Amino acid sequence: MIKSLKVLNHNLANADNQLAVLQNELNGQPFFSNKIATFGYTGLQATGIEVFQVNVGKMCNQVCKHCHVDAGPDRKEMMTLETMQLCLVAIQNPTIKTVDLTGGAPELNPNFRWFVQEIKKLGKHVIVRCNLTIILANKKFNDLPEFFKLYEVEVVSSLPSFTPDRTNSQRGDGVFEDSITALKMLNAVGYGVENSGLILNLVYNPAGAFLPPSQAALQAEYKTELFKNYGISFNNLFAITNMPISRYLDYLLVSGNYLKYMDKLIAAFNPSAIDNVMCRNTISISWDGFLYDCDFNQMLDLKVKPTASQHLSEFNIQLLNTRNIVLKQHCYGCTAGAGSSCGGAVAG
Ligand code: SF4
Ligand code: SF4
Repeated sequence: MIKSLKVLNHNLANADNQLAVLQNELNGQPFFSNKIATFGYTGLQATGIEVFQVNVGKMCNQVCKHCHVDAGPDRKEMMTLETMQLCLVAIQNPTIKTVDLTGGAPELNPNFRWFVQEIKKLGKHVIVRCNLTIILANKKFNDLPEFFKLYEVEVVSSLPSFTPDRTNSQRGDGVFEDSITALKMLNAVGYGVENSGLILNLVYNPAGAFLPPSQAALQAEYKTELFKNYGISFNNLFAITNMPISRYLDYLLVSGNYLKYMDKLIAAFNPSAIDNVMCRNTISISWDGFLYDCDFNQMLDLKVKPTASQHLSEFNIQLLNTRNIVLKQHCYGCTAGAGSSCGGAVAG
């Protein structure tokens, strides 16, 4: 097994290779679906679609070490206006309450602002996963805080640490300093400020092959340190487990930590997280309009099961609402410890 991992390590960009690494039955690690079966779950079924998460493109101004999208400035995949129009038709379904825009840096899509405006016309709540530094990357993005405020967008931003060294080593030189400047700009228009109604949430993810600490304790520490050192305030901190896919999987293999990390996730399996994993109330849309149970399955090119519609052009919410979810070994990342999702811990 170790030998095959080393061979695969030479070319992991391909989703098939990533999946091959995740089939670690040979190592004696139980399949995720078998594990949840011991708690009475015959697979996992969706409970409906409340969150419509859209990857509007893989281009990003950053190249973070643990990026599960493998995003960067050289990625050309970008959602077209036509595909956005298909999204607008799909989200007219009244059960869909929230549209969660992600990337890459979603703001780099040339139709990003138009898309936000059209989604708001349909009365949906909009989340933008903003990497902060995009606000300073070019002067045409400097007014993003005002734009977000105008459309009451919820902003969710990664900040792996309240110290410069850790943030810069994970996300690139100077990212911490630019992130602090961007956070101050967001605070200045009311984001993260008590009673403003403008939500600014931060995301923490571990720097190495370990699980996040307590989300509540970490949030308290972030609040104290960011306010004391920079006068910055925010609403909630989401502690997210690194998923063993994409660039993070590369890191685990190169550092010889892959099997140990999987063992850790499996040992920390928490059955109380199963009911709340995000795929149960979410659908994830790729830049080219295909449908996935979650962002992670999207990166592994694991489309929703073919019994449900697999592309926006044949979006069928009735079929999707009760679909059986595609589960693989990376799902252990969602059920370890306090559980994990794009909105942080999930365990009940
Ligand atoms: S983690 Fe976010 S900011 Fe970093 S490269 Fe990936 S998409 Fe860009
Ligand atoms: S990785 Fe995706 S499909 Fe698997 S449990 Fe997590 S959210 Fe669900």
